[in-house]
Amino acid sequence: LFAGEIDFLKGVVAMDGLPPADRSEVCFAGRSNVGKSSLINALTGRKGLARASNTPGRTQEINYFTLGEERYLVDLPGYGYAKAPVPVVEKWQRLLKAYLSGRPSLRRVFVLIDARHGVKSVDTEIMTMLNKSAVTFQAVLTKADKIKDHERQAILDQVRTNLAKHPASFPEIVVTSSEKGEGIPILRSIIHGL
Ligand code: GDP
Repeated sequence: LFAGEIDFLKGVVAMDGLPPADRSEVCFAGRSNVGKSSLINALTGRKGLARASNTPGRTQEINYFTLGEERYLVDLPGYGYAKAPVPVVEKWQRLLKAYLSGRPSLRRVFVLIDARHGVKSVDTEIMTMLNKSAVTFQAVLTKADKIKDHERQAILDQVRTNLAKHPASFPEIVVTSSEKGEGIPILRSIIHGL
């Protein structure tokens, strides 16, 4: 559906580097290793595309992709690796807050959550930030193939309980597996509908 439509545009390190807010954009956020690159690759059918933006040195950038002529797909660096020096982390957090609170064309943030782990404290931090900025976000469970069917309900309940604390959350949780293709068409149609 998106194959051939997506291209890397730029990595942004400061607010004045953002492209003009003339298209609607969707954003992907999640802890390091949550499966974000795999999901973006599965969605777009372009293997290696998101991984390229994951290489060291690009990790503190807001990565912009054009999705056709009407949308941007925005890939935020994975959070949770507290390895970077404090000033780097602080600079990044300032940029992230400025971006999330000052981007009128941002339609939705997909907050990726590993189906095996559920909502962790860093996920709560980003949800709180999104909530303060009144940016609608939607939880996306990743790696659903790694959990047993009977474990799903418990994890969905845990995520739902957390979402309920954040009025900016979209109630529907998307369950995905990049490996098996589960949930990918649904996520595509959500993006198309925004
Ligand atoms: P990122 O750091 O969030 O971009 O995560 P990656 O997409 O690089 O994935 C991290 C690891 O999880 C890799 O070893 C992937 O192969 C694995 N992975 C990602 N998505 C899935 C999935 O849907 N199912 C399974 N079983 N493994 C996955």
